[in-house]
Amino acid sequence: MLHPFRLHEPTTAEEASRLLYDLGEDAAVYAGGTELLLAMKQGVLRYAHLVNIKHIGLGGIHYDEAAGCLRIGATATHRSIEHSAVVQSHFPMIADMEAHVANVRVRATGTVGGNLCFAEPHSDLATVLLLYDAAVRIHGTSGHRTVPVSAFLVDSYTTCLGPGDIMVEVEAPRLPVGAGACYRKFAFLERPSVGVGIVIVPTRDRAAIADARVAVGCVGATPFRVAEAEDTLRGVSLAAATFEQAVRSAARALVARCDPTEDLYGSREYKRHLAGVLARRTAMAAREHLLAEGASHGTS
Ligand SMILES: Cc1cc2nc3c(=O)[nH]c(=O)nc-3n(C[C@H](O)[C@H](O)[C@H](O)COP(=O)(O)OP(=O)(O)OC[C@H]3O[C@@H](n4cnc5c(N)ncnc54)[C@H](O)[C@@H]3O)c2cc1C
Repeated sequence: MLHPFRLHEPTTAEEASRLLYDLGEDAAVYAGGTELLLAMKQGVLRYAHLVNIKHIGLGGIHYDEAAGCLRIGATATHRSIEHSAVVQSHFPMIADMEAHVANVRVRATGTVGGNLCFAEPHSDLATVLLLYDAAVRIHGTSGHRTVPVSAFLVDSYTTCLGPGDIMVEVEAPRLPVGAGACYRKFAFLERPSVGVGIVIVPTRDRAAIADARVAVGCVGATPFRVAEAEDTLRGVSLAAATFEQAVRSAARALVARCDPTEDLYGSREYKRHLAGVLARRTAMAAREHLLAEGASHGTS
């Protein structure tokens, strides 16, 4: 049952921050409500005040040409990102990942801000944003600050947001030109059990890997980048046999770093096994995207 609460409708971020600060622990931000209202109905969370941030103009999605980065407003829904022409053309891995989040109902109402701020460990979005070295812009009572996604997510269901803080935007820089990228997940209960993302950047002659980014999510409390797997891939030839061998080493390094939480989505051993399989398949797909004629970014 949903307990009574008062809904506040601020029209600016300043007003929303101030309200949240003044109301303290009795209040929460209300965006799409897909997590919040469910948790309130189940009695897991109880708030006397909800601060609706849908009317403060945070739903925009645009590509900042000068900074070379995508700016997604906190109240942009998964579906609006999935269908955004700019995301589809410049950030296809994000558009494709969004198309596979949950179901149409959740995608139509759930927001980027709600996904990141709830910090539910089974988030595709958080894992993919790590591959872009993305950051989160926060509005607080003393102004704005920008925090990398890796520092924003502190633990399961815990972010670095403090009293009066609202997430207002995600900034995701473009991947390096010529990169091949792929995000793959395994899901059987709507939310993913494991998600692995890989970006490989070719050398100028496109014969080898100049740089690599590897992220794994959903297995533990927060998603993370796997430096050991990235090191294993750097400098490796893109020739099929050499690449495949390096991918096997990278997958082993990734599995060694996983410290899975056993939950409804699987046992520790099961998640480790899935992470290794996904790492190999994702890397092979990233290479295919890289080698595909005309591709400047891969998609998942
Ligand atoms: C059935 C189901 C399946 C799902 N499957 C997936 C999946 O496959 N992949 C995936 O990545 N995600 C998945 N999700 C998570 C989904 O992406 C989130 O539920 C959704 O994005 C939350 O957004 P919201 O606007 O509804 O958040 P709300 O429910 O409105 O808010 C969630 C929390 O974040 C806080 N909050 C919201 N916005 C802000 C803000 N701007 N600043 C500060 N705090 C804020 C709220 O106070 C609340 O604590 C799934 C969810 C459901 C219910």
